[in-house]
Amino acid sequence: MNRSPSPRRPALVAALCAVALSLTGLTAAAPPSGASAVAALPYQNPSLPVSDRVADLLSRMTLDDKIGQMTQIEKDALVPSSDLATYRIGSVLSGGDSTVSPNNAQTWADTYDSLQRTALGTPLGIPMIYGIDAVHGHNAVRGATIFPHNIGLGATRDPALVQRVGRTVAEEMAGTGIDWDFAPCLCVARNDRWGRTYESFGEKPELPTSMATFVTGLQGENLGAGPASVLATAKHYLGDGGTAGGVDQGNTQVSEAELRAVHLPPFKEAVRRGVGSVMLSYSSWNGVRSHANKYLVTDVLKGELGFDGFVVSDWAAVDQLDGQTGFTGAEITTAVNAGVDMVMVPHDYKKFLSLLRGEVSAGRISQARIDDANRRVLTKKFQLGLFERPLTDRSYTSGVGSAEHRALARQAVRASQVLLKNSGGILPLAKNAKLFVAGKSADDIGNQSGGWTVGWQGRSGAVTPGTTILQGIRSTATDPSRVAYDRYGNGIDGSYTAAVAVVGESPYAEGQGDRPGGMGLDQEDLQTLARLKASGVPVVVVLVSGRPLDIAAQLPDWKALLAGWLPGTEGNGVSDVLFGDYAPTGKLPVTWMNSVSQQPINDGDGKTPLFPYGYGLSYDTTPTPEPTPTPTDTPTPTPTPTPTPTPSSKACSAQFRVASSWTGGYQAEITVKNTGTAPLTGWSVEWDLGGSTVTNIWNGSLSVAQGRATVRNVTHNGAPAPGATTSFGFTANGTAGAPAPQCAAS
Ligand code: BGC
Ligand code: BGC
Repeated sequence: MNRSPSPRRPALVAALCAVALSLTGLTAAAPPSGASAVAALPYQNPSLPVSDRVADLLSRMTLDDKIGQMTQIEKDALVPSSDLATYRIGSVLSGGDSTVSPNNAQTWADTYDSLQRTALGTPLGIPMIYGIDAVHGHNAVRGATIFPHNIGLGATRDPALVQRVGRTVAEEMAGTGIDWDFAPCLCVARNDRWGRTYESFGEKPELPTSMATFVTGLQGENLGAGPASVLATAKHYLGDGGTAGGVDQGNTQVSEAELRAVHLPPFKEAVRRGVGSVMLSYSSWNGVRSHANKYLVTDVLKGELGFDGFVVSDWAAVDQLDGQTGFTGAEITTAVNAGVDMVMVPHDYKKFLSLLRGEVSAGRISQARIDDANRRVLTKKFQLGLFERPLTDRSYTSGVGSAEHRALARQAVRASQVLLKNSGGILPLAKNAKLFVAGKSADDIGNQSGGWTVGWQGRSGAVTPGTTILQGIRSTATDPSRVAYDRYGNGIDGSYTAAVAVVGESPYAEGQGDRPGGMGLDQEDLQTLARLKASGVPVVVVLVSGRPLDIAAQLPDWKALLAGWLPGTEGNGVSDVLFGDYAPTGKLPVTWMNSVSQQPINDGDGKTPLFPYGYGLSYDTTPTPEPTPTPTDTPTPTPTPTPTPTPSSKACSAQFRVASSWTGGYQAEITVKNTGTAPLTGWSVEWDLGGSTVTNIWNGSLSVAQGRATVRNVTHNGAPAPGATTSFGFTANGTAGAPAPQCAAS
């Protein structure tokens, strides 16, 4: 995490340590002299190499200090919170349902800092590291920007965009103090029945491998070297997406050659990118649980791949090893000797610590293994800068859920939409069309965000602020009153140009999302669709789901089908595509079944899908025949609308709007409108900055000369159709004034 550019003053740390010490009643063997103006001990000296600091610190640690560093506990299990210091616990996490009240970035930061102060109050003042599942944005925090789940990011085929998403997640995390993200999931989902399919970037190893850029986004090029660097986690090692029947936590029954060919490559790439931690999988490989697999963890990951970070176990996974509830010494020994460096306990830390201590005393876990685990954990803490900058950098706190971050999420949403059918070129919709919107996910932030959104399993409803797909549609339509809405499709008549049905899956996570039976739409969706169909109005379906669904039987009733995945809070990214402000570019990250009986179905397995891996249409006449669909159900690769008449003219206009302002700065948005008769493929907007300086720009490329700004389009502005708009935004120092930007089409 970034630990603020200005190092915290040691004197402050000293004072805090002293307070915490007196609170916990611990006696300091050596005073926490990190605290004194000049670092007295080598490990406190930031100018020494990390390996020297680690060696020095290790030489001062007792066995209790060391086993504490190997312990990770759930925040809510820590009672009283002084136990963090008493038991020398090295790490805290928030599980999927662990929260703060009121749930906002500020309270999370306060909670973090208070725990950190407690940790610093131990004799050696070793900071804790705090982990959380920020798997599609900093999703535990109400008001954070929620990005598409990984399956949607896989559809973008844009590793650079995914890296920027990672960067933004890191910045939002930094604003709450949290140092460590249990992401990315580099699982290769091979069976869509698996409830975690949406956590996968795609079914072919090369796709998750290419998206390991997320690691670099979170950590920066070098852990802790830049601002807002958080520790990334490649998970779940190994073979989580390959279990028989797509059963969560199941058994992956494949040869070693297949395991290496399909599931290992993304981890190799993450290690190459310097990922700081790896989380093991609950699943087994040919009957052996990952948490007990010394060959995979120690020999392959740490040996062959050269992974030098630390291995964390999954939530209570060590406790599961013998199939009984409650830790045993044997389970702990098996896991630690297999190569687990930190155990996500997460509740009964007293029992865990006493058993671990017993196993070491009895010689069943060697001192060398304990030292190796500590060396790995401490190295990451030093690299992150936790010893120098242990507390939240509050300069990031107000950025949580900012307009700028949401603009990036919207961009990721539009790039993730996959157009699967477009009969007669019904899409893009005209902005002045009379529309009827229906479906359980049309106006529901919870549904469009999915699991792991302000709660482990997620839930329907207004879980967090954002823009629903309906709101996106209404805000883009020229006259919002021409957009009717009824969740169930009641009240539709033949007067509408099109009906947009937003249907699909309701939120779920992990095991509860497994679908061992049917994978079709639910009764409500089918009834809504039937009402729309009965009106005779052409139906456009937006499918909000974590995976392909079994829809071959309904597809002939639909004029168009857009796979929206789980877009997150920025539903206007979906409407951008529906209205053609952005021509779809997404490609299927998974093979789309023709029938549920085909599961598992993957590229190259000889089965005939409804839509193959890589499929995705656009609005232009040519771009997407990569590869040709092999439908059994004739979803005709659609003749797309022929763009407007000749002769054509190119022209545009620009409108300036201040989105927000504060003393000394402002954020503005400029909307570019195609006022010509041909698609607007290129443009530039110029205006007088009135003495202000742009500090940040998105969705455009900026140059400044003589106090005037010129912004040109970038790829993701697309080519707005005549009458359509695109926009860019920026943050600036100074005052906004009321500029009149000039637009030139090129
Ligand atoms: C999940 C992990 C997650 C952990 C902590 C487990 O149930 O499998 O992906 O990181 O919980 O919340
Ligand atoms: C926690 C999750 C965890 C899950 C594992 C839940 O109670 O909130 O973080 O992944 O349990 O079973």
